[in-house]
Amino acid sequence: MITLAHIQEVRSRIAAARSEGKSIGFVPTMGYLHDGHCSLLRKAKQEHGFVVLSIFVNPTQFAPTEDLDRYPRDLERDSRNAEAAGCDLIFVPSVAEMYPQGYSSYVTVEGLSSVLEGEFRPEHFRGVTTVVMKLMNIVQADTTYFGQKDAQQSIIIKKMAADLNLPGRIDIVPTVREADGLAMSSRNVYLTPEQRSNAPVLHRSLQLAQQLTRSGERDPQVIIEAMRSLIQQHAPTQIDYIRIVGASDLQERTVLVTGETVLIPLAVRFGTTRLIDNIVITI
Ligand code: AMP
Repeated sequence: MITLAHIQEVRSRIAAARSEGKSIGFVPTMGYLHDGHCSLLRKAKQEHGFVVLSIFVNPTQFAPTEDLDRYPRDLERDSRNAEAAGCDLIFVPSVAEMYPQGYSSYVTVEGLSSVLEGEFRPEHFRGVTTVVMKLMNIVQADTTYFGQKDAQQSIIIKKMAADLNLPGRIDIVPTVREADGLAMSSRNVYLTPEQRSNAPVLHRSLQLAQQLTRSGERDPQVIIEAMRSLIQQHAPTQIDYIRIVGASDLQERTVLVTGETVLIPLAVRFGTTRLIDNIVITI
């Protein structure tokens, strides 16, 4: 495995792999790898001869009040985990490599970027789509892998790829969870021991929603209220949102219709740590 910081070096190493007849799989991340990231790498390795991982804590997707400066970083540990998961090349650009002085181009997916996470983080998806577009243009993979954990992000990136005719496939990989159900996230290290023991209630609330729909509940407000009260009973939290939306249009549903696939995303704060999770349910 090789680690490179410059775009030109990455392009030529990938061109060499292609000339050896290898196809390219790509996993963009912000690093501090956990088994969720590694599941994307392992899938990429199953499907492609050469696997590229990017690690870049992208400043344009953080608001000034957010955790850019304290976002966890550990390149040595990431390198070991990435190699064990089948990675061939880690791209670790500097901010100046990605956004040189005078940088002025941005990609925006309208509509989908302004709901849910977009209501609480208004500039966030513009930063995400811009950096993902840049990274996908640099790597030019056959398949780029994203996680269902960030459901809205995955939907937005698929829309961007379709709208802008990006070549290559986009693959969304299931959420990897801790044994107690908490979705793996680099931000879980921010949780105090007490918050960490309370946090699995998020997954339990999503499972509760699934049980309610299975037993015939068709009113989204009833389901959301049940989730809300379960979370509030078990943990002192601030719930940013719990919604029931169409799985591809992200529009809120006022009634659940048999056969429809809905996404239930939530964002909840444990102290200063904001966690997101979701479930997809076909009614
Ligand atoms: P991040 O480093 O948080 O930007 O995540 C990089 C990629 O890994 C994104 O496509 C995420 O959706 C994905 N990812 C993060 N956490 C998980 C998880 N628990 N399971 C599966 N994929 C994940």
